[in-house]
Amino acid sequence: MSYFNKVLIANRGEIARRVIQTCKRLGIQTVAVYSEADAMAPFVEEADEAVCLGAAQAKKSYLNIEKVIETAKQTGADGVHPGYGFLSENEDFARRLEQEGITFIGPDAKIIELMGSKIESRREMKKAGVPIVPGWDGSLESVEEALEIADQIGYPIMLKASAGGGGIGMTLVQNAEELKKSYSTTKRRAESAFSDGTLFLEKFITNPRHIEVQVAGDHYGNLIHLFERECSVQRRNQKVIEESPSPFLDEETRQQLLETAIRGLNHIGYTTVGTMEFIFDDQKNFYFLEMNTRLQVEHPVTEEITGIDLVELQLRLAAKQPLPLKQEGVKRTGHSIECRLYAEDPKTFFPSPGIVKRLVLPEDVRLDFAIKEGDSVTPFYDPMIGKIIVHAQTRKEAIGKMNRALDQIQVEGITTNKTLLQMVVQNDDFLHGEYTTRFLDKLIMVNA
Ligand code: ADP
Ligand code: ADP
Ligand code: MG
Repeated sequence: MSYFNKVLIANRGEIARRVIQTCKRLGIQTVAVYSEADAMAPFVEEADEAVCLGAAQAKKSYLNIEKVIETAKQTGADGVHPGYGFLSENEDFARRLEQEGITFIGPDAKIIELMGSKIESRREMKKAGVPIVPGWDGSLESVEEALEIADQIGYPIMLKASAGGGGIGMTLVQNAEELKKSYSTTKRRAESAFSDGTLFLEKFITNPRHIEVQVAGDHYGNLIHLFERECSVQRRNQKVIEESPSPFLDEETRQQLLETAIRGLNHIGYTTVGTMEFIFDDQKNFYFLEMNTRLQVEHPVTEEITGIDLVELQLRLAAKQPLPLKQEGVKRTGHSIECRLYAEDPKTFFPSPGIVKRLVLPEDVRLDFAIKEGDSVTPFYDPMIGKIIVHAQTRKEAIGKMNRALDQIQVEGITTNKTLLQMVVQNDDFLHGEYTTRFLDKLIMVNA
């Protein structure tokens, strides 16, 4: 039996293709929705049906809730997969679909609401006994209040938008002077990016590592983890390279982390696929950072080491079927690494849109790509053009495989971060698994 008859994918690029692929394998019909800028994109061609939503700007297409819902109704879709970004963590969208009797392939609107707010989710996790980054659990009312609380917590601090995502809406603040300056700019940025200027603050963890736990729950109270992902290679607080298992964790700390994630989710009652993000300090203390109630960009490394198709799992859980396996059944083999190839300058990180005149990709590795040769990368959306994913018995072999794969990649017409990716996988500290979220910045400085 099938989980759905027809799924509309409310997204674009590589993740739309990724969802279509699993639907095809399961015999589920697919509907792509696209903007005028994406009319020629591979995901539009690969779906069984495709409907244009409107102009290139996301607000006029991918973020237009009513238009997406109208399209789902017209095409007779019984499920909507939101991918990541865009409407994937928008509770109004989930609620509207519910009203229309169409299944949102994700959590209930009330869970999105709870976990989408960093302030609310911090409070909730605290109640569950999950350690959270020391900080202020309320929303800041004024710069005066922020200064007072920052004094109590102690600098450096991270000033954050409660609704933030994609590394946007947070500012590292070293002292009171800086806080006075950055308070209003951070608030304004949050208002424009998320239509919500609510701010809070946290202690800045020095030499941090970002390690997250992939989880899945069903409607019958069962909850499992699918191990962790190490995501400390970041630029602008956004991930660039991810791997699993994390080279930083010993078995005891790993078990503690995984158990903590499960404890937190048991508390809220979680019924789909999701990720609990944690930050580690150099003493191996870890703190809850935020939860993402959707598929992550880096989900393939988990699929590689567990052999589980996370999109299928999402479809299955959304169709209210039980988890297909228990915790003991989740096995881990080998090591997987993912590199995100961005259309951007490897030093300044400025996007580099244009036509991809030539695209040579490696063989015998997994490629989750948004484009093919001849396609354009437009300036309207995230500049990620694809992901290279390797899996091998050991971390060392995986790094070797990644090196060979990157070596074979040729992109002409646009600038990419390929050389930066190569610099990372050839770096000694990376080889030894000794890196923090500051690693990329340091690497770029040294090579400037
Ligand atoms: P987003 O919703 O944008 O993903 P997160 O809260 O998950 O925001 O943070 C993104 C990244 O920013 C983290 O992976 C980490 O590198 C950095 N970061 C966030 N909070 C802190 C903190 N308190 N101390 C140090 N680094 C932080
Ligand atoms: P993940 O947490 O899945 O590893 P990212 O934090 O890089 O991935 O964000 C996922 C994608 O969605 C990125 O392309 C990012 O630009 C985009 N994104 C994430 N959250 C938001 C948001 N709230 N608003 C706009 N774009 C977002
Ligand atoms: Mg995050």
